[in-house]
Amino acid sequence: MNTQEKPRHITIIGAGLVGSLQAIYLAQRGYQVTVFEQLPDIRKEAIPAGRSINLALANRGIHALEQVGVMEQVKSLLITMKGRMLHDESGNLHMQKYGQKSEEVIYSVSRAGLVSILRDKAEATGLVKFYFKHELKGIKFDTRRCDIENLITGEIKAHEFEYLVGADGGGSQVRACMEALETTEVTSELLDHSYKELTIPADANGDFQLYKEALHIWPRGEYMLIALPNPDASFTLTLFMPNRGEVSFEAIHDEQQLEQFFDQHFADAKALIPDLKTEYFNNPTGYLGTIRCSDWHHENVMLIGDAAHAVVPFHGQGMNAGFEDCAQLNAALEASDDDWQMAIPQFEAARIDNANAIADMALEHYVEMRATVRDPKFHLKKAIAFELENRLPEYFIPRYSMVTFHLIPYAEAKSRGLIQSRILEQLSEGIKDISEVDFERGERLVVQKLPRLNLGN
Ligand SMILES: Cc1cc2nc3c(=O)[nH]c(=O)nc-3n(C[C@H](O)[C@H](O)[C@H](O)COP(=O)(O)OP(=O)(O)OC[C@H]3O[C@@H](n4cnc5c(N)ncnc54)[C@H](O)[C@@H]3O)c2cc1C
Repeated sequence: MNTQEKPRHITIIGAGLVGSLQAIYLAQRGYQVTVFEQLPDIRKEAIPAGRSINLALANRGIHALEQVGVMEQVKSLLITMKGRMLHDESGNLHMQKYGQKSEEVIYSVSRAGLVSILRDKAEATGLVKFYFKHELKGIKFDTRRCDIENLITGEIKAHEFEYLVGADGGGSQVRACMEALETTEVTSELLDHSYKELTIPADANGDFQLYKEALHIWPRGEYMLIALPNPDASFTLTLFMPNRGEVSFEAIHDEQQLEQFFDQHFADAKALIPDLKTEYFNNPTGYLGTIRCSDWHHENVMLIGDAAHAVVPFHGQGMNAGFEDCAQLNAALEASDDDWQMAIPQFEAARIDNANAIADMALEHYVEMRATVRDPKFHLKKAIAFELENRLPEYFIPRYSMVTFHLIPYAEAKSRGLIQSRILEQLSEGIKDISEVDFERGERLVVQKLPRLNLGN
């Protein structure tokens, strides 16, 4: 890494959710920030939001937004989701709360709305300059220059940087430049399931057609449909399904097959999707994958957000984890008195295991959402977990809650979650109802097997 310790100017590639929040953090530390973004500015031009029109915002993301003082503006975009509303094949509904305290909820937020607020806030510092329609083409690490193409004129210019932060998402060009020099080992696992977005509009009176304050799930074993509410009373639906096989994207060729598939498996939802055929055949099918990197920096270049650790979306944590990156890089800069040479390796060392842990948990959570939630045993275990949390809150917090409602590091949530799942397995063995559970034994097991939590975070 270059010996210059206290840069004044930082370059960010990518003005997505993470790049835009990172710009605010850096400006609030007094840096001049230049951000290059290949797409047009969604605040000025109507462009498709790309993947996922809305997302679930949870505690880690909220915490990072609060620290830069932007949460008040963001609140106006949020719709509370108190739990999962499960839709079975006969149209029966079952609401399952995410947590047991009133504040243990997640929020649906518009991607375009959130990124617009972050960009406004960044610009309001007077220290951040965004260049839209500017694409990073390459990096010369030794001379600290990068090539940026102005996509309007086609001109490519060399841009000098002191430190460069790659916040350019799952397909990161910054990461590709590091990989080309073999300074990081990248593994990328494409999921053999993809997704497609559909819409349930508001009804004729402008009201929600499904219960508003829930994340709706139609779990069907190998595949599922989910829905998140939008402020205009519509829902954005996402169909997750295998790419190939009997029930798959590949198997649906025409309108008749599509109709049959929805009639059979998602009849209640189908009745509410007026543009099913148009949307299904016109909307892109999005790929999903996990990216892990052995190193997140080389010389004066570093990765953050999806560029460093793209995860599948099933735990609703990709953006939340990226926002947590911003808060933790800020903490590392604070602790090192803005010595980037110290701060970057510290940040990276603290983050990589956690990023790998949420990547694993997100993959596991897909099975929970599409299949396990249909098993009565799952609900019994969830009830036992809530009771253990009530009895021993300093030892036992359900894994979903550790990930979603706390700032407990992901790696710790994963390792504690593994012990907890064994305890839940033992306590629920041969039992059908919570009244039969031996909670005294449960408490003994918890205290024996789990260290006390450090809930200072
Ligand atoms: C279907 C789906 C649902 C999801 N749901 C959730 C959820 O509920 N909760 C959650 O927390 N997360 C969710 N995620 C994950 C979340 O979308 C990502 O984690 C988040 O967008 C990462 O932000 P980012 O800024 O790192 O990357 P991105 O959002 O990908 O932004 C990267 C930016 O860099 C720009 N860029 C790329 N290459 C270049 C280049 N060469 N030059 C200049 N600019 C460039 C891109 O145009 C883009 O604007 C979901 C993802 C998907 C696919």
